[in-house]
Amino acid sequence: MAVTRTTLKTCFSGRICLIAVRVRLVAAGPAGYRGTVPELPEVEALAADLADRAVGHRVTRVDLVAINALKTYDPPLSAAHGREVVDTGRYGKFLDLVLDGGLHLVTHLSRAGWLHYRDALPPAPPRPGKGPIALRVHLDSGGGFDLTEQGTQKRLASYLVTDPQLVPGVAKLGPDALAVDLDGFSAAMRKRRGQVKGVLTDQEILAGIGNAYSDEILHRARLSPFAITDRLSPAQLDALFTAVREVLTEAVTRSVGQHAASLKAEKRSGLVVHARTGLPCPICGDLVREVSFADSSLQYCPTCQTGGKPLADRRLSKLIR
Ligand SMILES: [Zn+2]
Repeated sequence: MAVTRTTLKTCFSGRICLIAVRVRLVAAGPAGYRGTVPELPEVEALAADLADRAVGHRVTRVDLVAINALKTYDPPLSAAHGREVVDTGRYGKFLDLVLDGGLHLVTHLSRAGWLHYRDALPPAPPRPGKGPIALRVHLDSGGGFDLTEQGTQKRLASYLVTDPQLVPGVAKLGPDALAVDLDGFSAAMRKRRGQVKGVLTDQEILAGIGNAYSDEILHRARLSPFAITDRLSPAQLDALFTAVREVLTEAVTRSVGQHAASLKAEKRSGLVVHARTGLPCPICGDLVREVSFADSSLQYCPTCQTGGKPLADRRLSKLIR
């Protein structure tokens, strides 16, 4: 996004000059988000870690710290009190805490959300409006977990429901990126004509892939992020399907077994192109390039993915025009 701002500035001649300055609003969000937004492998690993620690324990209390984080009111949060955690699960990028009696606390961590498990939680509820905690779940072990969200944009969303399908975002999910077969994947990709990067990350087409892993998948499949889905050949679709499976399976294998605290570093260490602008591609040595958008950016390798041609950065083109 580019805006023109007119600024008064003192020129070196000492007179006041009117200077039009074009300001580029930065795009990728706070730098700390790069490569650390939870996607399918991280949510899978968070669910596995939480199952290890929480299953078999009872919820003693749930503190809603950021009022807007809870999107449901019936049943009330107090309905979770006293219930045993019987399982955890994942729907696309949604995390599910399954309680006995068929109650589910389903959470979408969004871009800057995370889960922090603690062996001992202070008994007093956290003060609202202070710090990143959105919701705190106390267990009868004395431990429990915080669902947190960094930054000023608050998008983390929790739902207490009797069926995960009652969560609108879950009900709309396409097939899971790790569960779909080649035919289902090809059908999903052909469902919407568009740039493959956008279609791969559309949760209603295919569930679980976000900005970072789509960069990695397209690099593995040697496809331009701007390739148009309905022009992909069967061989390209096959390569893309294989890349989805390989990249996500490798990431899940690396991540599951890691505690929540070490997952972000694990994710970053496995990335080949995403968030690596200007660094050499490990396959061909060409420099990784970036295209920026209003609130995100993508990275790719020209030699591996676009026949050596850099893609137009429309944000920069707009500035030059
Ligand atoms: Zn390369």
